[in-house]
Amino acid sequence: MAAYEYETHEYDVVVVGAGGAGLRATLGMAEQGLRTACVTKVFPTRSHTVAAQGGIAASLSNMGPDNWQWHMYDTVKGSDWLGDNDAMEYLARHAPKAVYELEHYGVPFSRTEEGKIYQRPFGGHTTEFGEGPAVQRTCAAADRTGHAILHTLYGQSLKNNAEFYVEYFAIDLIMGEDGTCQGVVCWKLDDGTMHVFNAKMVVLATGGYGRAYFSATSAHTCTGDGGGMVARAGLPLQDMEFVQFHPTGIYGSGCLITEGARGEGGYLTNKDGERFMERYAPQYKDLAPRDYVSRSMTMEIREGRGVGAEGDHIHLNLSHLPPEALAERLPGISESARIFAGVDVTKEPIPVLPTVHYNMGGIPTNHLGEVLNPTKDNQKATVPGLMAVGEAGCASVHGANRLGSNSLIDLVVFGRAAAIRAGEIVDPSAHNPTLNQASVDAAFDRFDKIRHASGAVPTAELRLEMQKTMQADAAVFRTSKTLAEGVEKMTQIAAKIDDLKVTDTSLVWNTDLMETLELTNLMPNALATIHGAEARKESRGAHAHEDFTKRDDENWRVHTIARVDGNKVDLSYRDVITETLTTEAEGGISLKKIAPKERTF
Ligand SMILES: Cc1cc2nc3c(=O)[nH]c(=O)nc-3n(C[C@H](O)[C@H](O)[C@H](O)COP(=O)(O)OP(=O)(O)OC[C@H]3O[C@@H](n4cnc5c(N)ncnc54)[C@H](O)[C@@H]3O)c2cc1C
Repeated sequence: MAAYEYETHEYDVVVVGAGGAGLRATLGMAEQGLRTACVTKVFPTRSHTVAAQGGIAASLSNMGPDNWQWHMYDTVKGSDWLGDNDAMEYLARHAPKAVYELEHYGVPFSRTEEGKIYQRPFGGHTTEFGEGPAVQRTCAAADRTGHAILHTLYGQSLKNNAEFYVEYFAIDLIMGEDGTCQGVVCWKLDDGTMHVFNAKMVVLATGGYGRAYFSATSAHTCTGDGGGMVARAGLPLQDMEFVQFHPTGIYGSGCLITEGARGEGGYLTNKDGERFMERYAPQYKDLAPRDYVSRSMTMEIREGRGVGAEGDHIHLNLSHLPPEALAERLPGISESARIFAGVDVTKEPIPVLPTVHYNMGGIPTNHLGEVLNPTKDNQKATVPGLMAVGEAGCASVHGANRLGSNSLIDLVVFGRAAAIRAGEIVDPSAHNPTLNQASVDAAFDRFDKIRHASGAVPTAELRLEMQKTMQADAAVFRTSKTLAEGVEKMTQIAAKIDDLKVTDTSLVWNTDLMETLELTNLMPNALATIHGAEARKESRGAHAHEDFTKRDDENWRVHTIARVDGNKVDLSYRDVITETLTTEAEGGISLKKIAPKERTF
């Protein structure tokens, strides 16, 4: 057994992650007087949320008629009928309140002439239950919305006495023998000390796992650590086969150009200068949802109408927009286009390509943020002491495809919901759990084994192999053949985890060791993704299967539940929740309105 000395910290709640979701949960917990710690591997305001540009969806009706029922309908349709109706109702209903709270906390939203919060159109957001024109629902702080939210929430959390443990890397969950989560084991990156957090509630807010792919818009820190920890604790991941490709990553670097660029009037063209989206989505054109636009772009390229010397990308045009509008509404992307594509957006189009952007799947939760561990007899069984929020979680509000600006609202609505729920079930006067020492020891043993790994494969090499395979075999277009090959390859790649080589065994700022721990987290996420995709014999949302091109509600309107053990994946399924929280008579939405139908735009 590896002997590491460690310091123990006791809290009511430990939140792992300080992105938008983690900070909103932290703030909500602290506001209620719960002793709250927030553990984060990067400085809070450097979390990936800082990069969110376009905005946050809520039916404020500041720019025209709107209501939460329309927002809910769009979310249901956007999810391609795989989202859970209770969670989607909760999201759309609480969105306005959550945004006004952000405003009052101090988020500097862009304003209309009358001083109201400015809202822009975003893909898939419509009026009249999809029958009316596009709506302006996405609240924005110029094109730096995530940045503004993160800074505000961090300041407010400090004000409410939340305690931050910055540059602490969470290694593994501590699980009691009865299946309760009791805390988390951490490594302090800058001095090499070890820390055990004992808590009545652990909230995983560790973000997505975009870095399982070669080209992603997300930060290098988005390595699915929460999913990895959960998988090692024997708990499942849900709907991992649904990976969103953003239509407009800058060709080459993958750096994101916000959908807000099309919201403000930008449009896509092929090599003939044709606005091809008019053919694929006659009604909403360039503002059709992301899976739709990404697939249309891929189709254009496959059929030989891509731009550039290799005909392998597409143009995004903004130069027809007034330079003042670009400077005011899209200053950040004008800069990104200059730096990463060498393009002056007032004169030339930006070269773009669909790029991995968001993980719809994650740790399954109910609409209160509590983690689910479905069994045959009880599909809604929860894991005591464990919650998950933000991109790491899967509530599920995005189902098979997320609408733009619905993630930031997911972060704050469910970060807030988790805090409200914790306020109900965590008793500040109760004793903390007696830690299961075997679980603590197991975390240190795993850490020590990786630290001294002396196999033949360097971490960077294995990571690249995984990323290239995922990019080739689990991307926008999927066939039975590519997916079966992908499963085979990933099984072999994942087995090489046991043959890794870590060259630096020190404990202070050891990036080699940290990246290896991250790779051990990316791997189960990647495995669950490709296995789930291979098994799903239909096309739905982001999962477009060339051999099964239709959605199959009879057999596949179910959530994939994946349990990963080493390089093996066990799949089972859970019913989609079709009940809403309130009935039509209680002011809710009519079930008829949100019944499945064909998804066209
Ligand atoms: C470029 C870009 C632009 C986007 N724009 C928009 C937009 O305009 N609107 C929208 O709705 N959505 C947008 N999205 C999506 C949205 O921003 C993300 O889904 C969201 O920010 C994720 O937030 P999060 O709080 O879940 O995680 P993150 O912000 O990724 O934060 C994760 C946190 O977990 C911590 N962490 C992770 N692992 C560990 C560990 N092992 N130990 C300790 N701490 C750990 C990190 O330190 C970090 O604090 C965008 C995404 C990208 C990549």
